[in-house]
Amino acid sequence: MTTTLSRLTRQYPALPPAVVMKTALLSIGVRFDPLMVEAARTALPDFRPHTLPDGSKVQVPYLMKLENGSLVRLRCSEESPFTIKHQEGLSFLLLDEGAPFIQFSFANRPIWHDQTASDGTPLNACGLNQHGDMMVLNLTPACEYWSTPRNESNLSDIRNKRSYRCAFCGYGLPDERSRALGQKEGQATIPPLSMKHAAEAVSKGIEAGARHLYLTGGSMLDPELEADRYLSIVSGLRDVAKDVYLAVGSQALPPSRLKELKAAGADGVCFNLEVWDRKVWQHVCPGKSKFFTRDMWENSLVQAVSVFGKTNVHTAFVIGAEMVFENTLKDPETALHSNLEGVRWLLSRDIHPILSLFWPFVGTDMEGAAGPDLHFLLRLFSGVHELRLELNKPFPGNLACKRCLYMQVEGDFE
Ligand code: SF4
Repeated sequence: MTTTLSRLTRQYPALPPAVVMKTALLSIGVRFDPLMVEAARTALPDFRPHTLPDGSKVQVPYLMKLENGSLVRLRCSEESPFTIKHQEGLSFLLLDEGAPFIQFSFANRPIWHDQTASDGTPLNACGLNQHGDMMVLNLTPACEYWSTPRNESNLSDIRNKRSYRCAFCGYGLPDERSRALGQKEGQATIPPLSMKHAAEAVSKGIEAGARHLYLTGGSMLDPELEADRYLSIVSGLRDVAKDVYLAVGSQALPPSRLKELKAAGADGVCFNLEVWDRKVWQHVCPGKSKFFTRDMWENSLVQAVSVFGKTNVHTAFVIGAEMVFENTLKDPETALHSNLEGVRWLLSRDIHPILSLFWPFVGTDMEGAAGPDLHFLLRLFSGVHELRLELNKPFPGNLACKRCLYMQVEGDFE
């Protein structure tokens, strides 16, 4: 019997079947099943509810843990060829056009989720999240680009005329999360109590088996202040986080500050470019473009390699965001060429790209846009794989791996 996956693996022989499978699950999703609603009662829930065809909203799990060790974000669809069937206990079976192909379970809430800090504060309110074996700490969720208005007049092709936020971004507005963590706009300092709670949450996560710690947060307009902020977080956590890989996922920091960051205990950095094409970058990431500039971003990535070493500098992309707006890379062939050009430029300088899939979330400036097509993604991943082989730059797997990358396939080439 031929199935969707057997056809795709024949069509893309250079890609491992695990990569084809994950790409297909992320791109065309899994057919919604009421079993998902039942599973979400105990599993880690998606923070966005799924909307059924009748308009009602239901809670579904966030992540699937496949039998091969891969983590995949659950995307519910009404038309996917992939369906699920309950096995026993917490185990499920994925079927492709009715044919079973892999067992999986839905990822549970992290153990520390229901625990409290020593002063009784719930640990799940400390800014920590965990996906597989990666903890993601965000002590400063409010992004200053969201609260900085734009006034340019020549933006007729861009929907977002309000602020400098990135066009695909759905988080970053100052809200109860940022207020509860004591974040103050324009201030680099982290309140000592927030640091204390974060350290306790991180240490519980490590006890429970986490292997990577990724620091992130909303952006600041001033690169020096942002460097101060991350220096204080790294310094405050290094002792409790000594057995995990600690990466700083800030904006591109001033090259002169990178050695301080390493001395404080950071193992690596991930300064996310989001889209490669320089012109499109200005439209999709207007804040990064105006307040940091593209030259500064690239220079910081290059300098970071000399400070942190060849396998410790990464940059993430939102694949598909470069194709959304008018006058950007709407033609898939142009977008493919641009992305591969970027990957070659980066890998040649020992900067490792991580390609995340663009999902057009509600509440963003790209809401309602079409995401990248499955075949576009498979062609892109095949091209990147060829480049990694040609340049002998395998994905390092230290900052992240297949057990935590749930919207990306880099870890699944192992
Ligand atoms: S820098 Fe961009 S992606 Fe990051 S939080 Fe701000 S608006 Fe969102």
